[in-house]
Amino acid sequence: MDLTSRYFNPEMETLDRDGIRALQTERLHSTLRHCMNSGFYRKRFQESGISVEDIRTLDDLHKIPFTTKADLRDTYPFGTASVPVDKCVRLHSSSGTTGNPTVILHTQRDLDQWANAVARCLWMVGCRPSDVFQNSSGYGMFTGGLGFQYGAEKLGMLTVPAAAGNSLRQLKFIKDFGTTVLHAIPSYASRLFEVMVEQGIDPRRDTKLRTLVIGAEPHSEETRRRIEDMLGVKAYNSFGMSEMCGPGVAFECPEQNGLHIWEDYYIVEIVDPQTLEPVPDGQIGELVLTTINREAMPLLRYRTRDLTRILPGDCPCGRHHIRLDRMQGRSDDMIILKGVNIFPIQIEKILMQFPEVSSDYLITLETLADNDGMTVDVELKQMAIDDYGMLENLSKAIVRALRDEILVTPKLRLLPKGSLPQSEGKAVRVKDLRKKF
Ligand code: ADP
Ligand code: ZN
Repeated sequence: MDLTSRYFNPEMETLDRDGIRALQTERLHSTLRHCMNSGFYRKRFQESGISVEDIRTLDDLHKIPFTTKADLRDTYPFGTASVPVDKCVRLHSSSGTTGNPTVILHTQRDLDQWANAVARCLWMVGCRPSDVFQNSSGYGMFTGGLGFQYGAEKLGMLTVPAAAGNSLRQLKFIKDFGTTVLHAIPSYASRLFEVMVEQGIDPRRDTKLRTLVIGAEPHSEETRRRIEDMLGVKAYNSFGMSEMCGPGVAFECPEQNGLHIWEDYYIVEIVDPQTLEPVPDGQIGELVLTTINREAMPLLRYRTRDLTRILPGDCPCGRHHIRLDRMQGRSDDMIILKGVNIFPIQIEKILMQFPEVSSDYLITLETLADNDGMTVDVELKQMAIDDYGMLENLSKAIVRALRDEILVTPKLRLLPKGSLPQSEGKAVRVKDLRKKF
C-alpha cells in the first residue's frame, strides 16, 4: 500500500476511457455467460428471443430487457441467483423503504470486491490507515453497517462499529477514541451536532473529526455545506443500494463535484423513466446499472429508480470513471401537485438557505375542500419563539422562495425545535394524505 498515492487501486482508478470500455466489454461477456446459470435470466433471454452471442459490444446492451425491483420481489428470495445458494456466504435485504424487502446474495468473492470498492472510495477522500473510522449506520440487514465496516478494515483504519443511535455514546466514542472519520446519514449528522451543542462540545475544539461520509438518503448541496460548517469537516456524498451490494457504488472525490461511479464494477445508463429511451449526457433520467463484477447475483440493466444525470467533462482528480450528479431522489419520491412535478430535495434546498431554520422538515400533502395542497413544517433553531414580527417576515420570505422554486404556494409552519417526529434510520420527509379520486 503506497501511502503517498492518491489512488487505492491506481490501475483501475486511472484507466482511460478506451481502457474502461475494453474492460467493460470483456466483463460484460463473462457476466452474461455466467447469468445463464440463473433460471430467471435464462428464461428472460429465451422469452425475448435473444442469446448471449447477440450482445457483442456495449452498444448491444439495449437489447437486454431491464431488470426491476418487481423481478426481485417476484423471485423472492433467491430466484435471480446465478450460483447455487450453498456457494453464498451472506445475504442482505434492502431496507424496504418503498415496499417488501428484496434479498441479495453474496459469495466470498463478492464480499471481497465490495470491500475493495468501499476502501477505494474512502481512500479517495483522504482516509489512511492512521485514521479512526466510526460508523453510525445500523448493522445487520442494512448494508451501510457491514459494507463500510469491511471497507474501512480493508483500508487498515481502526474502526469503531458504533452502530445507529445513542448520540451520547457516539460522542463519547468520537472523543475517547479520537475519531477522525465518521459515516452518518445526513439527517443524523445534523442531529449529532445538536447533541454536541447541548453537551457543550465544540467539534472543532473537542474532537479530531475531519471527514464525514454522508449518504443513504437524498440531500441538497445546502445540507452538505451546513454539515461542513457545523462540524468543521469536509463531507463527501456516498451513494449505494443493497441491490448493487450497498455503499461503494459511487462516491465524491476531493473535488466535491459529482460522484465517480466505478465503471469496472458497473455499466451505467441513464434513461427516460417514461419512454425508457436513453437521455443525452447531462440530462436527468433514471439510473440503470449492469453489474459486471458480481458472482452470486449479477443484475442486468437494473432500474434503480434513482434520478440523476451524468456530468459532462473530465474531473481534475485524474479518474476517468464518469461522474453522477447528486441524486434528485427516486422516481417514486416525485410529488405531483396541481400538475407540477416537485422533488422534496428542491424544498430542502430552499429551506436550508435560511439560517434561522433547523435541518428537520416535513412535507404534508392533503386534500382540503377537494383541493390538493402542501404544508411544509420546519423547525426553528431556537427553542423559544417570541418575536412575532420577525417570524412573520421569515415565513413570508420562505414561502416566496419556495413558490419561485416549485411553482406552487405551500402553507408554511415554523415550529419550535423538537416538534417533528424523529425517525430511526432514513428520514421520512413526505406524508401524502391526499384523497385518491
Ligand atoms: P431501500 O431501497 O429499501 O431504501 P437501500 O438501503 O438499498 O434500501 O437504499 C438505497 C437507496 O437509498 C438508493 O436507491 C437511493 O434511493 C438512496 N440513496 C443512497 N445513497 C444516496 C445518496 N448519496 N443520495 C441520495 N439517495 C441515496
Ligand atoms: Zn474526481
